Order: sequence, then structure tokens, then C-alpha cells
Amino acid sequence: MSVVVTWRVTDVLPAEKKGLRVYLLAEERQFFVEHEQNQQLTKVLVRKKIEKPVYFAGADLNDGDYFFPLASLIHLNIWESVKVAADRALSLAREMKFSSVIMVMDAPDSLGFHKKALEGILLGGYQYSTFKKADKNQAQWPDVCFVVDNLDAADIAADLKRTETVCMSVNRVRDLVDQPAAILGPEELTSACLEVAQKSGLSIDVWDESRLKSEGYTALLAVGQGSIRPPRMVQMQYVPEAESRSHVVLVGKGITFDSGGLSLKPSTSMEEMKRDMAGAAAVIGALEIIAALKPPVKVTGIVALAENMPDARAQRPGDIITMKNGTSVEVKNTDAEGRLVLVDALLRAVELKPDYLVDIATLTGACLVALGTKLAGVLGDQEVVDRLCKAGEETGEILWQLPLEPAYKEDLKSDAADLANVGSDRYGGTIRGALFLQEFVPEGVPWAHIDIAGPSFVSKKWKYFTPGATGFGARVLAGLVKNL
Ligand SMILES: [Zn+2]
Repeated sequence: MSVVVTWRVTDVLPAEKKGLRVYLLAEERQFFVEHEQNQQLTKVLVRKKIEKPVYFAGADLNDGDYFFPLASLIHLNIWESVKVAADRALSLAREMKFSSVIMVMDAPDSLGFHKKALEGILLGGYQYSTFKKADKNQAQWPDVCFVVDNLDAADIAADLKRTETVCMSVNRVRDLVDQPAAILGPEELTSACLEVAQKSGLSIDVWDESRLKSEGYTALLAVGQGSIRPPRMVQMQYVPEAESRSHVVLVGKGITFDSGGLSLKPSTSMEEMKRDMAGAAAVIGALEIIAALKPPVKVTGIVALAENMPDARAQRPGDIITMKNGTSVEVKNTDAEGRLVLVDALLRAVELKPDYLVDIATLTGACLVALGTKLAGVLGDQEVVDRLCKAGEETGEILWQLPLEPAYKEDLKSDAADLANVGSDRYGGTIRGALFLQEFVPEGVPWAHIDIAGPSFVSKKWKYFTPGATGFGARVLAGLVKNL
């Protein structure tokens, strides 16, 4: 990860000759144009014949200027379109080795576009390149100039600084998720938490295996026992200086590699399982963002970290775990381990008496079947679900509510224990997963569960995301807190 973009803001269109001018247009206009590269990017060849050439500061389109008619990206909301357009403009400028890019948005509601454009640039410029040879021909990042209406330089600089903070945290989440499991196990992820906590001034508490044992966190130990790398639980806390309005507890699943355990996954499903800790990474990223933005809300993040491996000591199908709260669970499938480790983190979370409790996890393949790769599933109490969906709309991360249908609790019955960790067939897997977790959240605790098995990573370029981790969830969780 290294996205180094410098920017400035002005209310007049600078006269730079060498730069690339990009006009982000919010409505279709009649241009005499030549389409090139793709449908969204259009080069202006003729400067006349523009119906309403009313650009900000009276700017006119020149030869060599490019514009993105955002209306052609109608499957995205306007702000997502701005992010995509800004990302594309910057990659084009890099390819053409331009030294600067000037961005103007021509739309009645363009106030604040600079934040969204910068978000597209910083998230779009990310690439997981730790193991790649440096590309000597890689062009420098061009300078970016945003031309904005109603300029208040100090406000805008603060806006952009905040946007940069958020994006850099999201990119660090992506780094964690993309890191191979050989170098990122539960202990290394714990070190990453310690680093974030130290840098951001968060308090931190770590449970190693002996503390997990003495305090009765049996599920993490059971899932982790098949790996030579022991499990961990980590709690990080942000306490505002002012009196806090409420207390939000965020819980993340952190399986640093999921082989499935003895219920071994087929090799194609195992390929991407270094990413089974994306929920924990999202929680870590959210805490980092929150610590930087300092909202008046107390926030605690708890991540349950383990590696799920098939070893002589691994848990077996049919084993029974007695959870810290006394509920026994028959492990019918060792590949449904995420919900097990989340139980320990949720039981810790409810001790803290949260006003809002949210867990986030790459929990079920069923969520991919139901919603595809672009949406996260969300289930739980309506108020929390609504707040999360709203935060998701604001950040461009879409959450779709699925029903927490109690009739499916039947499917989680076990002959030998209080509960089974999976049902007897593969239907409704996401709902069953959430119902299982709900069993460990006492009534009256406002709770929701987010399943990010789909959108936590992309296998090909999507919107402004390069193939790999997307950091999905960090912005949503931070947004939930910001809006309280
Ligand atoms: Zn699994």
C-alpha cells in the first residue's frame, strides 16, 4: 500500500497547461465527442456545441479535457459514481504521466464532491504489493486540484484530512486481509492491534491461551486447538474526552486461516481463506478511524482470533463445547467455526453492557448465494439494522436485511447438546448462523450481525477496488458511531 497524493483546493480554475482536466458531470449533455478507453471516459474534441457550458468559475471545456458523465453510471449512487470517476481519471493521468489533475464537478448538488473524489482516489490507488517486484516504470502520483464552490479553505482542508484518515485506515484493513496466513496468524494480528492501539491512544487488553482457559473462553480454545498457533482475544477501547452519549461494542471474527478443520474445505474454497479474518480487520480499522475522528461515543472492539486447522489435536465433528455461559454446543461441522469463536467475543461484549452491539464476520457461503458478492447481509434488531443500513448508504457499502426468522431455530437442535453449530441441510445458512449467535445475546441488548462473506474482497476490479480485499465494514461501523 502506498498511495501518496498531494492535493490543493481552489475556487478558480487554474490555468495549468500540462495537467489533465476532469469534469465530473451529473447529467447527460449533448457533446460532440469521441468515446475512448471505455464508455465512462470521454475526450472532448470539439469545444463548441455545448448546450450549457456553465462550468464552475465559468470554465469551458478545452481540447484535451476529459469528462465523466456520471449519469451513465446509474447503477451506482451519485457519490459512488464520483469516486469511480475520480479513480479512473487518476489512473489515466498516471498512465499518461501527467503531473496534475484538476477536478471540477458540475452539478447542483456538488457541495462536498472533493471528499468523495478523494475517497475514490485513495481507495482506488491501493494495491497489495508487498510481494511484488517494484515496477520501475510506475509513474508518480499526479497532484490533484479540486475546484470547489463556496470555498472555505480551512473547512475543506479539514474535510480532506478526515477523508484521508478514513481511507488510510481502510487501506490498512485491506493490507491485513490480503496478508498471507503464513505471516499473519492470531499472534501477529494481536501485534497489529497493539500497534493500532498504541498509535491511536486506545486502551488494549489481550487474552492469551492461558487467560482464555482460566476465564472459560472455551470456544476459541476449541477452534484453535488444531493449530500450532494459539488463539487470542483482543479488546480495544476508545473513551471520549467529553461525556459519552452511548457505548457501542463491535465484535469481529478473526480466523486467520480457515482450512475448515477436519470438515476440510475443498481446495478451491480454501484458496481465499486467509481472508477469513476480514471482520476482525474491519473492527480494528473502525477503531482506528474512531480514535482519529473522536466522536462523543465510547466504543469497544473485541476480536476473536484463531487459526482453524486439521491437526491430531483438532476438534472433531461430534465434539461438544460447553460455552462460558453454560450452553453446550455440538460441533457437527468444524468448518462452522466462525460462529463458535464469535460466541466468546459476544459473551465478553455483553459483560460490558453495550447500548449497541454489532458483530461482523465472513460467516457464511450461503450469504454469497443469497446476495452475491456486492452486498453484505445484516440481521438483528430493527433499530440497529436501520442505523447500519443508513451508514452503509452514506459510505457506499450496501447492507441488505435478511429476516431473523425464529422458525429456523428448529434446525439448530442437537440430540446431545443444547444447540448444534449447523443445521441438517444447507438451506438458510446465513439466517441460521445469525440465530445461533442470537442465542448468546441476552434479550434487551440491541444487536445486529453483519455477514461480509461476499463483499469483503473482490476477485476482479469492482468500482474503485483493485482485486483483493475491500476493507468492507470499517467505514460502516465508524459511520454508525458517527451518526449516534
Ligand atoms: Zn469455516
